[in-house]
Amino acid sequence: MANEEKKIETTVIHGGYDSKNHNGSLTPPLFQTSTFTFETAEQGERRFAGAEDGFIYSRLGNPTVRTLEERIALIEGAEAGLAFGSGMAAVSAVLLALTKSGDHILCSKGVYGCTFGLLELMNEKYNITHSFSNMDSEQAIEDAISFDTKVIYVETPINPTMALIDLELVVKVARKYNVPVVVDNTFSSPYLQQPIKLGCDIVIHSATKYIGGHGDVIAGLVVGKAEFINNVAMTTKKDIGGIISPFDAWLLLRGLKTLPVRMDRHCSNAAKIAELLKQHEGIEELYYPGDPNNPQYEIMKKQMKQAGGLISFTINGGKEEAQRVLNELKLIKIAVSLGDAETLIQHPATMTHAVVPEEERKKMGITDNMIRLSVGLEAWEDIWSDLKQALDVLVLKK
Ligand SMILES: *Cc1c(COP(=O)(O)O)cnc(C)c1O
Repeated sequence: MANEEKKIETTVIHGGYDSKNHNGSLTPPLFQTSTFTFETAEQGERRFAGAEDGFIYSRLGNPTVRTLEERIALIEGAEAGLAFGSGMAAVSAVLLALTKSGDHILCSKGVYGCTFGLLELMNEKYNITHSFSNMDSEQAIEDAISFDTKVIYVETPINPTMALIDLELVVKVARKYNVPVVVDNTFSSPYLQQPIKLGCDIVIHSATKYIGGHGDVIAGLVVGKAEFINNVAMTTKKDIGGIISPFDAWLLLRGLKTLPVRMDRHCSNAAKIAELLKQHEGIEELYYPGDPNNPQYEIMKKQMKQAGGLISFTINGGKEEAQRVLNELKLIKIAVSLGDAETLIQHPATMTHAVVPEEERKKMGITDNMIRLSVGLEAWEDIWSDLKQALDVLVLKK
């Protein structure tokens, strides 16, 4: 389709949808239906046999969901896409499709808390093992790969330390060993980073975050080669059933339209807040890939359009002081999740990464004095003044 040649700012609005096929409806219609009627028994037979295109039952496919799936594939530059009822439904459908008992998954050092939980479950119940690598050199990745490695699973930036993985480097080694690279692209959004174009095989999003963008949907997306996507559609998606509702798909289609505009503001606000945080006396260390002094700044420049809207930082103090800072805030909301219009703040050690055993958490660099901020779309001056008055408490206490 002509869509493929368009820029992302256009594809997020028009990709995968032609109003001519829908009575001229400007926005994609919401097909809020569980099932689809067949005109004849024979037509039903043909649909089930795959001899005729068309919808059967919404767990297998739905026109509103299909539009979203085509749109995200076009945005990421992939052959095909699939939507799920949550980011974790997407992660689990992909990992279960790619592995069997005895296989090994090589992960970036640090993954989303529930992804860590899923990896543990797969290990305990199905003997699918995993290990972590910082993947900071070709040698480091090669050393971590074994004959049983069937997936390289990467988050970049890594939640919540904001460490980056050089995707070009990972792809180079993965190709040599013929192992697919799966990227959880949630923190970047497809506007800032497009791993398929860098040679990665599969991209996952928690669409709950930047793609939805309004804090009102839980959903997941996956893109990749058509053969893989069809396989997932017919196995771990269809039979485990973590599907998205048509209404949520419709909300994501709406959210996507403003993704580039929102991301630009998230990024410029975050840059401003990071600069100010860095100068504040209560801050021990800043974790933000957009800081030119960040050792991974060049990797950011190479593979991301901008540095994103998330900032982590450690404060002078421990758990108690970190909780105190959160409690002092008035405008900024204490909540997990990210990528919403509202600025959100959370304490990873006791919230998103509480499921990770303390020892593992330390290895991932998640300390008790770390705070993660998802910078929203408010005026940066208002975000900063709230943050500053909360952080000032730390300075006064000294
Ligand atoms: C939120 C998140 C997930 C899980 O997504 P849900 O939509 O909450 O199921 C996975 N990976 C990352 C990086 C996330 O931030």
